[in-house]
Amino acid sequence: MIIEVLTLFPEMFEGVLGTSMLKRAQEKGLVKIKVRNIRDFTTDRHHVADDAPYGGGPGMVLKPEPVAAAIETCLAENAPTPMCRVYLTPDGESWSQQLAEEFSQLPGLVLLCGHYEGIDQRIRDHFIDREISIGDYVLTGGEIPAMVIIDSVVRLLPGVLGNEESSRNDSFSGNGLLDYPHYTRPADFRGHKIPEILLSGHHKKIEQWRRQRSLEKTWRRRPDLLHKLEPLLTKEDKEFLRELASGHPPADAGGE
Ligand code: SAM
Repeated sequence: MIIEVLTLFPEMFEGVLGTSMLKRAQEKGLVKIKVRNIRDFTTDRHHVADDAPYGGGPGMVLKPEPVAAAIETCLAENAPTPMCRVYLTPDGESWSQQLAEEFSQLPGLVLLCGHYEGIDQRIRDHFIDREISIGDYVLTGGEIPAMVIIDSVVRLLPGVLGNEESSRNDSFSGNGLLDYPHYTRPADFRGHKIPEILLSGHHKKIEQWRRQRSLEKTWRRRPDLLHKLEPLLTKEDKEFLRELASGHPPADAGGE
């Protein structure tokens, strides 16, 4: 996969791309990530990338010419790889695990980070394929959203995580539920003991316990997810949820 980032602040990406999973994924050649400075595509002496908005009002707007030139360079330099051009913006489609999975199948991505009031609308209309928001709040620039997209997509690429099984069990993935609780040694930490079942060595029962913890957490915190998953729930799942709702969870429920 090829990911191109267009930003006014390339230095913001150094730590994130040069550390941990993202560093290893690039070293292994599983993803190629290039960060370009939009200012390098300006043609005036002072490298001005923004201007005042037509019609007046506060703030500045990213000028269309350098942004268009930067996008065109990304497309030309990566041809014939098709590059999906994405603008990060609070009024875009909400980012989700489902979209991360969809994007992880793409051969190439261009992530355009806005700043100030945003970018000239003509770029959005004619040079962008998708508009993505990482949540209903406003950040100063699209750099952190771009990092969120890169991290959540790259970890899904085959070979990036040591154990593919672990990402299948993550919240919103695989079974669509929130993740179950995790414990490691010691079994007794300052008097707080781990649930007995995890020491039993009984794999089927541990699996059932984990499924019930996932169901319970999702029921408490994200009932909206459970509604969508209804057709995928088993008879046992539904029975367990009925007991939770009745206020009489099974004896070993050990919930939150
Ligand atoms: N005037 C814009 C609006 O109200 O929708 C907000 C502009 S914001 C201050 C500057 C830039 O930050 C945007 O162009 C966008 O690239 C990025 N940005 C801010 N919040 C974001 C979010 N929740 N998701 C994605 N990008 C965001």
